Amino acid sequence: MTTLPDRRLLLVHAHPDDESIGTGSTMAHYAATGAHVTLVTCTVGEEGEIHVPQLAELAAAKADQLGGYRIGELATACAALGVTDHRFLGGAGRYRDSGMMGLASNEHPRAFWQADLDEAAGYLVAIMQEVRPQVMITYDANGFYGHPDHIQAHRVAMRAVELAAVEGIAPAKVYWTAMPRSVLEAGLDAFTESSDNPFAGIDSVDDLPFGTPDPEIAARIDATEQHAAKEAAMRAHATQIPATSWLYSIAGNFGAEFMGVEYFTLALGKKGPGRGPYGWEDDLFAGLDLDGRDRFPVAAAGLR
Ligand SMILES: [Zn+2]
Repeated sequence: MTTLPDRRLLLVHAHPDDESIGTGSTMAHYAATGAHVTLVTCTVGEEGEIHVPQLAELAAAKADQLGGYRIGELATACAALGVTDHRFLGGAGRYRDSGMMGLASNEHPRAFWQADLDEAAGYLVAIMQEVRPQVMITYDANGFYGHPDHIQAHRVAMRAVELAAVEGIAPAKVYWTAMPRSVLEAGLDAFTESSDNPFAGIDSVDDLPFGTPDPEIAARIDATEQHAAKEAAMRAHATQIPATSWLYSIAGNFGAEFMGVEYFTLALGKKGPGRGPYGWEDDLFAGLDLDGRDRFPVAAAGLR
């Protein structure tokens, strides 16, 4: 029987690729420093666009095989991030990608948007019982940018925390992904002169569907040492992120900081000690008592 590491981090994401784009450096950082990182992906992403012309026939409106293909992309991404514990909520294919808000795909009987909240949360509680994460990461109530599956991932994850709390096994801290307004403002300024401006037509961060006032940010995870791992993980999702994406040109222009620094708000739990004008934590486990109350001995014999 093996025992899990003392620090255990659970991430709940909507589709394959969200983990790499939103939290890839944080995942790679914690995996590389000996924490146990568990990724739960809620759908296999059947409704995504396809940016690889040779794979166009996989599309939902054609062969409807994109989800199966993306399972392989996600496996490659997890390998790049050094993450070995990955599951699909309820098993691969239990919940279908709902597509963008308002589309007919929202109504599919297996669409994650239609999921029974307690059933879906129950799958997550079972994972919490097995892994006993002290820290969980998911999205805010708007799913960071409004995609139905991201909103639903938020609802399911937060419901799972409620159910786990009844059993006394809820994570001690719950974070939501976030982007500080100051970082967005710097990005807008830096891109004004660029020919490849992803913010073209946007004059103010007020026009963006995300952006958190700096004082509301709780944690700034500087994982710049993992920026190459994050970029490799993103490139594994080739059907979703074109090789010519502005994401990669930003990485080229701004280097490690753009790829390697990720931000979070603290939704539940007690903020630990931090630094800077707003006391941003530099560690998601900051302030936790890993030798005592917040440490759960976990047998990991059955772990994949
Ligand atoms: Zn997504």
